[in-house]
Amino acid sequence: MSAQRSRLILSILMLVSILTVSLSMAGFLPEDGTARSLGWIASDDGWGAGPGRDDNQSDGDEVSDSGQHLPSAAPGNGELAEYPVAEMVSQDDPAGQLESWPLESSIARIHTVDLSGWRGRDQDASALTGITIILDPGHGGQDTGALYPAHSSDPIAIESEINLAVAQKTRAELEALGATVILIRDADVWQSIFYRIAWTGRYLAEQFLDELADAGFQSGRIETLMPLLDQVMQINSDSDESGGRGLMSGEGAREELRLLLDLQAQYEDVLYLSIHCNALDDDSTVRGLQVFYLTGETAYARENELAVDRGLANAAPVYRMYQDESRRRLAGLVQESVLGRLPSLKYEGQKSLIDENYAVLRELNLASVLIELGFISNAQDRTLLTDAASQQQMAAGIASAVYHYYCLP
Ligand SMILES: [Zn+2]
Repeated sequence: MSAQRSRLILSILMLVSILTVSLSMAGFLPEDGTARSLGWIASDDGWGAGPGRDDNQSDGDEVSDSGQHLPSAAPGNGELAEYPVAEMVSQDDPAGQLESWPLESSIARIHTVDLSGWRGRDQDASALTGITIILDPGHGGQDTGALYPAHSSDPIAIESEINLAVAQKTRAELEALGATVILIRDADVWQSIFYRIAWTGRYLAEQFLDELADAGFQSGRIETLMPLLDQVMQINSDSDESGGRGLMSGEGAREELRLLLDLQAQYEDVLYLSIHCNALDDDSTVRGLQVFYLTGETAYARENELAVDRGLANAAPVYRMYQDESRRRLAGLVQESVLGRLPSLKYEGQKSLIDENYAVLRELNLASVLIELGFISNAQDRTLLTDAASQQQMAAGIASAVYHYYCLP
């Protein structure tokens, strides 16, 4: 493992050099190319869960410093005004080593959502009309995720298949409640973690640009994000060697990522649910459902730990303005709702709701959770995970949690 690590690190260093030149040419780096962490190393493997791992300018004088308010009127001559994006200024955090971005949005609000419009709705075919749920069935293609038996060439349980089956059933349940549902993958195909993050980022940035234009604005800075995201999707790899992880992050968040995360924070009518199964090779007794979310506090703490480990003096400032309460609440609702239907999925270990720094939670700023439905390595869980009727119960539980999230107090 350590020899492999060393090779990875060497490969990363070589790629950083090549990609630094590319980025400099594309204008995304300071001219000296050294001022910021380039972010070619992701902060964790993105997926998998402890204790088990499944391996796996403003034109307006009304604009405040933080860009919170739009100019009162767009020009009436048919030209688009420049949409206000605050100057990117990081600030030191006296409590830690890494700087963090200010706890305020760098962009003005353009997408407004009145969540009270959904409160009190009946659980019927129009309950979630206007809500979009992005479902992310983990793994796929050559990446099977966890297997049982582990490492078998002829497994009887394959995580990627279970994830997709539950996601498809969840889609049906959510559509029956009127939601718009997007499956990031709807077949047994490979997509990198960063492909999924970039795809979602692009989907929302495109919507945002449309809304900007409708409001009489344009933004070159947001348009600049598109080729960055396209490149991540084209590379479609999670390996360090590929550089496919880099455009998004690394330790801390580059300016482009901060912009993207601030933009996403406006979409309170969109949820992101990542669906996985867990496994533990060396303990088949561990079983049960766990739901992961990420708060700004934990993101900051974990990024600092990594910075200490890796000696990254020039890491970019850490982004902390996640939707902490929404994420916590959504995670709790998913757990409660699935266990309400399948009580035997109760996790018996220390923690079943876990605040953790996974890439798919850190590099998206939606209300989002990563659901580990159960342990493929445990016989009791496996029976449920591979049974269509039980999968349907999991799907119904997830959909019901989403209904509760928007429509009940
Ligand atoms: Zn997984």
